[in-house]
Amino acid sequence: MNAAAHAPERFLDEAKSLACIHCGLCLSACPTYLETGNENDSPRGRLYLMRALQAGRLPLGQTVVRHVDLCLGCRACEAACPSGVHYGELLEVTREHVERHHRRSLLQTVLRRVAIEQVFPFPRRLKLALTSARWLRAMRAERWLPRFARETLSLVPEDAQATRLPKVSPAVPGTRRGSVGFLEGCVMSAMFGRTNRATVALLNRVGYDVMTPPTQGCCGALYAHSGNLAQARACARRHIAAFDNLGLDAIITNAAGCGSTMKEYQSLLEHDPAWAERARRFSAKVKDLTEWLGAAGHSSSSNSAPSPSDSRVTYHDACHLAHAQRITQPPRDLIRSVAGDRFVELPESDVCCGSAGTYNLTEPAMAERLQRRKIEHILKTGATVVVTANPGCLLQLHAGLRKAGANQVRVVHLADYLAQTWL
Ligand code: SF4
Ligand code: SF4
Repeated sequence: MNAAAHAPERFLDEAKSLACIHCGLCLSACPTYLETGNENDSPRGRLYLMRALQAGRLPLGQTVVRHVDLCLGCRACEAACPSGVHYGELLEVTREHVERHHRRSLLQTVLRRVAIEQVFPFPRRLKLALTSARWLRAMRAERWLPRFARETLSLVPEDAQATRLPKVSPAVPGTRRGSVGFLEGCVMSAMFGRTNRATVALLNRVGYDVMTPPTQGCCGALYAHSGNLAQARACARRHIAAFDNLGLDAIITNAAGCGSTMKEYQSLLEHDPAWAERARRFSAKVKDLTEWLGAAGHSSSSNSAPSPSDSRVTYHDACHLAHAQRITQPPRDLIRSVAGDRFVELPESDVCCGSAGTYNLTEPAMAERLQRRKIEHILKTGATVVVTANPGCLLQLHAGLRKAGANQVRVVHLADYLAQTWL
């Protein structure tokens, strides 16, 4: 029978999917390929599967979905690719196609559509879930739970602190350079309130009024990564409306995953004539905190003094900062401005730690393998402080170090690390 008779509706952009020249240069950058050695778990193999699905040469069955699900969406392949393949975008539309046409098990459906999509983007629900998790841990109920629930519990930090920031936080008097918007973030505001406050204080310290519009919500990253693009677009529109017309110099985030999604609102909404131009303007203003502070003058040595307390410090690159946004040097420069020679590079610093948004909940086995790999590298550096710039990485690394009994090593967000000496 003609394969075209089975061809599904078009979901892949043909030109973008054909950009892959099969050179294989992305293979050694791909964490799942490094772990399994299976070509179908590599970027090149997955692109082949996507094209075969689109052409109707492969049915949308469990085997293909498994290889797509196992992808972290870390985009290390994109950074390594000489042909400029837009892997992240192709993955998102493939995932949307999978979610629309593939029937998942009841457990997977509840986990993805209810536990993740109905809890994480809502800080109040997330806080309630955190309280329940702490209660379960106190009751030592982990052993009765399925694996994904045990892994979830292992991620819950003991010192999670929620916060809501004021609408306006003025620059330190006498320093004013302009005004920026700040994305509170779902997980950041529910678990890392202290880090959000430190972030705003740093921005005030370097001369910016910080606007935190209360109408902002989830940036949509969680939906975009899980194949719910309609909801991701709804989040994008709400966010643009919340920050538009505030006369901001930039829109700052301290969460790498949120930053990469907001920088891509322009492609998410490019086919919506009412929003395309607003999305383009919004995306152009989005800056990661490290990028903004690292810009001229913001990380001058006058802000910094060596921290006396810590010994070696290392840095883990969050995938959506290093690969999706290509920001690797500013965070290192900022850390060095405090740590000097005590900064040590982490081997495989840009290989995913297994967090990858909610991947550690949907794919706990692979997430744990990558977590172990990362922790082994961290321990070899002899560092007692690991700095990173994304909430998922903070949780994953903290849980991994605790599992390894490495209680002497702290994981801190870059904003908290800088706040020790800048403020
Ligand atoms: S996004 Fe990451 S896990 Fe997925 S194919 Fe690319 S490198 Fe591999
Ligand atoms: S590096 Fe790019 S062009 Fe080469 S195989 Fe990987 S995705 Fe294809």
